[in-house]
Order: sequence, then C-alpha cells, then structure tokens
Amino acid sequence: MTTNTITRRPTTHDAIVVGGRVAGAATAMLLARRGARVLVLERGSRGADTLSTHALMRAGVLQLARWGVLERVAAAGTPAIREVRFHHPGETITVPVKPGPGYEGLCAPRRTVLDPILLDAAEEAGAEVRFGATVRTVERDAAGRVTGVSGRLRDGRTFSATAPVVIGADGTRSLVARAVDAPVLARGVATTAVVYGYFTGVEARGYEWCFAPGAAGGLVPTNDGETLVFAGVPGPAFRDRMAGDVEAGFWSVLEEVTPAVAERVRDGRLRGRFRSFPGMPGYLRRSHGPGWALVGDAGYFKDPITAHGMTDALRDAELAADAVTAFLGGAGEHGALAAYQARRDGLSADLFRVTEAIAAHASDPVRLKELLIELSVSMSAEVEELSSRPPMAPTLAA
Ligand SMILES: Cc1cc2nc3c(=O)[nH]c(=O)nc-3n(C[C@H](O)[C@H](O)[C@H](O)COP(=O)(O)OP(=O)(O)OC[C@H]3O[C@@H](n4cnc5c(N)ncnc54)[C@H](O)[C@@H]3O)c2cc1C
Repeated sequence: MTTNTITRRPTTHDAIVVGGRVAGAATAMLLARRGARVLVLERGSRGADTLSTHALMRAGVLQLARWGVLERVAAAGTPAIREVRFHHPGETITVPVKPGPGYEGLCAPRRTVLDPILLDAAEEAGAEVRFGATVRTVERDAAGRVTGVSGRLRDGRTFSATAPVVIGADGTRSLVARAVDAPVLARGVATTAVVYGYFTGVEARGYEWCFAPGAAGGLVPTNDGETLVFAGVPGPAFRDRMAGDVEAGFWSVLEEVTPAVAERVRDGRLRGRFRSFPGMPGYLRRSHGPGWALVGDAGYFKDPITAHGMTDALRDAELAADAVTAFLGGAGEHGALAAYQARRDGLSADLFRVTEAIAAHASDPVRLKELLIELSVSMSAEVEELSSRPPMAPTLAA
C-alpha cells in the first residue's frame, strides 16, 4: 500500500498525533521513519506512569522486535517471560513460551520504560514531540474535514497546528473521537475491576493467570525485580468487594482465587501503594473519517482481563501508519483508511468476543479453558499476519 513520495500540502505537518504513549508513539515513529513530518502532542510528561499491568503478548513483542526497539526494552532490565502458568481451581497448567522471529520470550515493561523508548525512537526518526501540550479543539473546515488541532501548553500559552491528518491516540477518553463523533461499531458489557500492586520478593518465572468463579488474579514480572500482582472481580462487584478498602479487598480476592499464590505474595513486600481500576466496558469505534484516524484505546478498547490492549495498539499503529503513508503518498484517503479499519476489525473480532466472554467471569473451568485456547488461536492469527510483513516498510523520499 505504501507509495514512494509524500505529497506535501501547505500545512505545518503531514500528521498530528494526539497522545504519546504506546499507540501514539509507535504510530509517530513509523510515520516519521517513512519520511512524514510528524507532530506528537502529549499533555503529560516524559516517562510518566499510567494504569497498566504491563503484559505484552506475542504480537506486541514481535512488533517491538521488528521495529528494532526490543533490545532497548531488554537493556532496561525487563525480564524475559519464558512460560505462562494458568491456575484453575485444583489445577495448574504450564505453557512454555515459543520463541518467535526476533524474540526469545514475552515481556512486561513498566510504562515508564516502554512509552519513553517508543517516543525516543519516534524522535530519532524525526518526529517532533511536545509534552505538556493539551489538545482542546479539533479544527475543521467548512466541509467538516478535520484540518488540525489547537490547545494549551502547560505554561498557559496556546498553540495550533495543521496537517492533512489528525490521529487520535489519546486513550479511552479520546477528545479526537468525541470531536469527530466517531460512531461506535460494537460495545461490550462485561467488565473486570482490578486492584494491583508491585511486590519484591515474589518469585514468578513467567506470567501467572489465576481464575476462579467470579474472581481472577495474576502475577506479572516487570522491571526492577518487581512483580505486579493483581486481583480482580466483575465490575459491578467492585464497590462491595474492593472499593471501600482496596488493600483488604486485594487480599481477600487473591485468597479466594488461589490461596497458594496468595501465600507466595504474602511472603513478598509491597512497594508503593495499591492502584485500582473500576472497570470499563469495551468498544470498537469507527477508526477514520475525512482528515482523522484513531489508533489504540481511542478507537478500540477491551477489558484488561486478557492483557491485550498494548499489543493491539502496537499492531494497529503499523496498520494505521501504512494507511496514512499511502494517503500522504497520494492514494485515496477513504480507501486507504478503510483498509486500515478492515484489517483492525478483522483481527480484533475474535479477541473482542473472547475477552467479553472471559470478562463475564461466569464460565465454568471447562468452558474457561476452551476460551483461553480460543484466545491463543486469535493471538496466533495476529502473529502470523505481522510476521509475514517485511521487517520495516521502506523509507519514503522527503
Ligand atoms: C488496569 C489496566 C490494566 C491493563 N493491563 C494491560 C496489560 O497487562 N497488557 C496490555 O497489553 N494492556 C493492558 N491494559 C490496556 C492498555 O493499558 C491500553 O490498551 C494502552 O495503554 C493503550 O495505549 P494508548 O496509547 O492507546 O492510550 P493511553 O496509554 O491511554 O495513552 C493516551 C495518551 O494520550 C494523552 N492524551 C489524552 N488526551 C489528550 C489531549 N487532549 N491532548 C494531549 N494528550 C492527550 C494521555 O495523556 C495519554 O498519555 C490495561 C489497562 C488497564 C486500565
């Protein structure tokens, strides 16, 4: 789909990316590597933390490897994950992680590690990144086409920028999605609420996912010798079971899900405070329109129980960058961006469906195991698609 020359228009940039985390930083990096003049506007600060349980799945790690940034993630001390354990009532199943093209195992980098690595790579490729820049308005012309953005810097100054395409990578509360009134194509209903903390002294050689009727938990080894431990319940149960006292709620739910794992965690030491997420139903939004596109959570969110949001953001960053590059190179906008949406939706349909079913927390152990296998099959489809692509699309002429 990529063409060889970007058709320059009289705008300050070729693409404006709103939001500078996994989705935005990766999209900006890919576009800049292909020769586009990219502006990233991020209201937060470089390296700021955010809610996440960090687990990357095969397609996410594959993307980092294909883009040549996985080494940086490893160099930051992110442990390699070589097995995944599934704890069901009375049974533990261990699955070794099969090495893939360019990676030996999975990994779960802290967001304070992953997001800056991707932003650095975007800047190295020539993207301009502005922190403390909050987009407040999406500008449109008389025909309704998005033409740019305006907003406010942290020091109170205002800014505006124009580009042929504005990419909303601004998360679940996406201002861009709201401004363009992006239609919702699918809605989820199931939610998981989680409480999590970072522990030292808890040995976990790989991801450990724990399931029991009406509750779940997990161990995710991350940077600095810490293991993220979470306990979760269906969203509607959060208020009664966890919200009042998140620490007590965390321990009681973890004990209920798997007493053996809870005992191992009790031997460790909590670093910092517990964090909580009350749950949010999933959605799939239309991902494009005249002058705009959405990538990452801005366009597609699903319950975090399947730990797949970042992986999908990394996958879709490339699909979106391909489409935008084609458009900037002179291809028809609608056709190019519709192809992005078709691929995103095709690869997401099963993941979305299975995530909904797991997040309902209503499956008996036999059905749950079937769902986990279905999840793995959907993940294999993503890996197959991405590994069949060239390591890096060719750089475009300036
Ligand atoms: C509790 C929890 C656990 C999770 N665990 C996992 C997991 O284990 N594995 C996994 O793969 N996924 C997980 N996810 C999902 C994952 O966090 C998201 O899918 C991922 O963060 C999406 O990245 P993003 O770049 O699209 O959005 P975000 O990470 O939300 O980044 C959006 C950025 O946009 C910026 N922004 C927003 N509005 C504006 C504006 N107006 N102007 C400028 N900047 C703006 C924000 O400051 C933010 O930095 C989890 C989510 C939650 C809530």
